Amino acid sequence: MIVLAILGGVIIVSLVFQTFAMWLSTRICRVPGVGISRAVIAVLLITAIGLGITVATWSLGANTLAMSIFTLALNIALQITLFRWLFRTGIGKATLVWLLMIGIGVSLALPGALILRAKVLESFIVSAGSMHPTIRGPHIQTTCPKCKFQFDAPLAVEWHDLRRAPVVCPQCHDLFDAKGRGASADRFMVYKLDKPKRWDIVAFRNPLNQRENYIKRLVGLPGETVEIANGEVVINGRPEPKPAGLDVKYLAASEIKSLPSSMRSLPARVTLGENEYYMLGDNTEASSDSRFWGTQGKARDGAIPGDLFIGVVRLTYWPPSRWRTF
Ligand SMILES: [Zn+2]
Repeated sequence: MIVLAILGGVIIVSLVFQTFAMWLSTRICRVPGVGISRAVIAVLLITAIGLGITVATWSLGANTLAMSIFTLALNIALQITLFRWLFRTGIGKATLVWLLMIGIGVSLALPGALILRAKVLESFIVSAGSMHPTIRGPHIQTTCPKCKFQFDAPLAVEWHDLRRAPVVCPQCHDLFDAKGRGASADRFMVYKLDKPKRWDIVAFRNPLNQRENYIKRLVGLPGETVEIANGEVVINGRPEPKPAGLDVKYLAASEIKSLPSSMRSLPARVTLGENEYYMLGDNTEASSDSRFWGTQGKARDGAIPGDLFIGVVRLTYWPPSRWRTF
């Protein structure tokens, strides 16, 4: 898969850059006897230390700012200690080598990284739960007070006219205010060189606030007539089969119990124009998507113009337990 190949390439290239930066730094600081092989060992060891600390922090569930600062400091201290031992030098010179290595490494890698991020591959998180549970925003681990079902409930819900919406139990469909342990959002990679196809999860700019990014599933293509009936997306009068593994019973606006009754009369059927797309969230009970955008003036009948597309979601990678390709 292309995204994994690109990521693998990026890792190899950055290791090569870092090795070169390390070797050059020891030369500039006149540390004797450091050849390329010792530089390679040093880079592999500091990579292993960084990875170990990151995974340990994650598995302890410590994701506070204070913890991040502490682990960063620990990481730097361990790297400098490693340099002292590996290059048989004092703390002053080891620190100097470390600083130079970071400086040279960043100035070598930054231009390429910025171009890659702008044009090819970018990492995102979302602040809302409209694609929950496929891709989770901030959420809490909670228990339904009625049927005692335990599940991850999305925290922020992006109804455009409500500050918050109640959590809906996926088992008994009870509405309640969730309480429980907080957990952070999934991190995912968006690939920008693919043309999005139906059922792809697409990242795009919010038509009403272009500094805000959304992710939704692309269900309707230019020229098609789209409606939702009996849990299915109906394209040009025919139910469209969902891909394997997508287990969503889509709701039309009129079927959402937690929606104010004034909004349940939204148009049920939309015909898309040229370069217009219909987008739905997997969390169909609580997603602000094409079902509602028609009422907001600027977006016509729930359609998203293709020029707002950023790219296709191809990989969730963090936390490690959420690793998944699309
Ligand atoms: Zn329940």
